[in-house]
Amino acid sequence: MSKKKKVRLYNKKKKLPETTIIANLQSKYDTIDETKITKFTDLPLSTKTLKGLAENDYVEMTDIQRQSIGLALRGCDILGAAKTGSGKTLAFLIPLLEILYCKQWTRLDGLGALVITPTRELAYQIYETLRKIGHYHDISAGLIIGGKDLKFEKRRMDQCNIVICTPGRLLQHMDENPLFDCVNMQVLVLDEADRCLDMGFEQTMNSIIENLPPKRQTLLFSATQTKSVRDLARLSLKDPMYVSVHEHATHTTPEALRQNYVVCALEDKVSMLWSFIRNHLKQKIIIFFSSCKQVKYIYEVFCRLRPGIILFATDIAARGLDFPAVDWVVQMDCPEDVNAYIHRAGRTARFQRNGECLLVLLPSEEKMVEKLRTCKIPISMIQINPNKLQSPQRKMEALLARDVLLKETAQRAFISYIKSIFLMKDKEVFNVHVLNTDSFARSLGLAIPPRIRFLQRMEQKRQLSNKNTEEKKPLTVNNELNDINEEVNDYKDDEQEIKSQSMDSIDFTLDDSDDDILTVKRKNINLDDIQIAIANKQDEGLNKKKAVTKAAVAKKVLRKMIVPNKKITFDDKGELDEDSGINIEIAKQILHEEDKFDKQRFREKIKEKHKEKKRKLKTSKKIDDKNDQDETEDNINNYTSDDEYNGPDLSWLPDPDKIYGKQGENYSETQESEEESNIHRPPKRKLITQDEFKKKKKQKSLDVDNTDLKADEELVLQLLQN
Ligand code: ADP
Ligand code: MG
Repeated sequence: MSKKKKVRLYNKKKKLPETTIIANLQSKYDTIDETKITKFTDLPLSTKTLKGLAENDYVEMTDIQRQSIGLALRGCDILGAAKTGSGKTLAFLIPLLEILYCKQWTRLDGLGALVITPTRELAYQIYETLRKIGHYHDISAGLIIGGKDLKFEKRRMDQCNIVICTPGRLLQHMDENPLFDCVNMQVLVLDEADRCLDMGFEQTMNSIIENLPPKRQTLLFSATQTKSVRDLARLSLKDPMYVSVHEHATHTTPEALRQNYVVCALEDKVSMLWSFIRNHLKQKIIIFFSSCKQVKYIYEVFCRLRPGIILFATDIAARGLDFPAVDWVVQMDCPEDVNAYIHRAGRTARFQRNGECLLVLLPSEEKMVEKLRTCKIPISMIQINPNKLQSPQRKMEALLARDVLLKETAQRAFISYIKSIFLMKDKEVFNVHVLNTDSFARSLGLAIPPRIRFLQRMEQKRQLSNKNTEEKKPLTVNNELNDINEEVNDYKDDEQEIKSQSMDSIDFTLDDSDDDILTVKRKNINLDDIQIAIANKQDEGLNKKKAVTKAAVAKKVLRKMIVPNKKITFDDKGELDEDSGINIEIAKQILHEEDKFDKQRFREKIKEKHKEKKRKLKTSKKIDDKNDQDETEDNINNYTSDDEYNGPDLSWLPDPDKIYGKQGENYSETQESEEESNIHRPPKRKLITQDEFKKKKKQKSLDVDNTDLKADEELVLQLLQN
């Protein structure tokens, strides 16, 4: 028995060289038959990956994994589409690990694979999954997302073989981090690819793609995949394989997801939500609103009134996030389009679990149901029993009466919702004019509905335009754009009004993240909205109360290489008056010369000190007169001719920068010669005109002559005394 065991151990120790193992695996790639394999062990994967998978109970493959891993291993570009919760993350992480493993990637090889995702939260989840399945590999991974320590990321960047990132932060590293190097990059993955490529990220993604090596493998994954030829061209995909596992499925959403909708008046929404939570106390619920300010308000109110525990979210959580065991997704506000609906609803019924989804629609938004059904989404209507609705309105009113800050939050939530409806592109579904805003405000606990100036003004314009049409005077496009700009300004006024109503003055802009609504983040915002976004950007400066220091402005100017405006004045005859104002170029030159001059003077002073010191030394040693005289003459000869003078040894002097501080820093250092850079610069400077400069220069040369004379006189006197 024991002998047999020994033989087995011996056989186990006999290990093939890694290159042979890799060659073996790679030779099997072409024979992978997607129709026959079911388990991860059926794939030619490294033992390190297989161990990582088994440890986490990943045994059977999902459809998307079965169909795409083999293709990716063979080096194909892939467009992977599969329902939410169907395991797309592993479908790209496994090939990433294997590709780098087969290339025997080490830390020294730098960045080998890049995974880009639209949100930080999703990037984090992917990173965690990679850590779980990839920890037997010697490959390092990094998470590069906004809100983390940039310096730390920068230092570590060159050591990362796989980087999981969000587009903005990645571009920041590409721009600013000298350690970021992607020349060796082999694979690029876009998770939630359609979102990464849509308008919100367009410019950032274009810049990123420009910086990436063109010879690479590209994998795109999403539940709602991009089919736009333009997108594919942007990414320079080579004969991409379209892996759409559920293309011919009866439904676009998971089969285990039960989907319902209710039609509910705007003013009843809060009561409906309240009652829903009270009736599902033991279940895990995610509730989506269309704006961050609504989430903030309802969260704060419900935290105090405590109908039950729930998670409130905006669309930031709608894509990709894998919340464990969610029972219900409630969409309190109608999603902007069918894709948004699919992603929100997909936070439940993930990977073989059941889940339910409730969509709350206004009577004016019912058209959405048709659109969903056209896209193969099975959704049925349920009725609300009005007798069972419990309203928290009185409690909310009481809360707001006591808490001014909360009241402001409510006002912002109110305006922000109206604005979100106004900005929706799909005017078939969203109509801001039919909203009963007064009763909606009351339902939020606001006794007096906040004024929505942009809406009032728009209403006036609409009436005017109707009148114009009747009179056959059509409005021009420009007029319309101007109107929208005014509306945006009115929106700002609305916000201002909320502020002025408040007794405590708080910095409104601090938590103003929800103004995102006004920026072009989504692909489906129309021309008018873009105009709004631009106007909003222009107004940003007015709205933000952050102090703008001169230093900040100067830095910005330097960064952007802005050439300062030149002031041009004309004399009475209308001719160009060149001497007027401060000519920056001349002023710079003057400053430079002045600086040289001052340095020269500084040297002279040092010379004097030096001479003084030597003299004292000699006197104390009582050297004989003749020798002393000769040497002093030598000194004088040495130091009076500037051409021959190579500079005294200044090392014994204290560092002038330490004594005078670094006041001279604003002076362009590039203009200095190396020799000059060690010399003290005068602390403060004032821009002077040319005439002043000439006068000053004359004065200075006189001063210097005087000091030279004085020094000489002193010296002669001393010699005579000796
Ligand atoms: P998707 O990106 O398609 O929405 P995810 O990759 O987030 O889906 O996976 C959804 C859930 O399914 C995750 O919790 C994941 O751990 C699990 N999962 C994925 N693949 C498998 C598998 N082969 N076996 C078991 N669980 C899996
Ligand atoms: Mg995913």
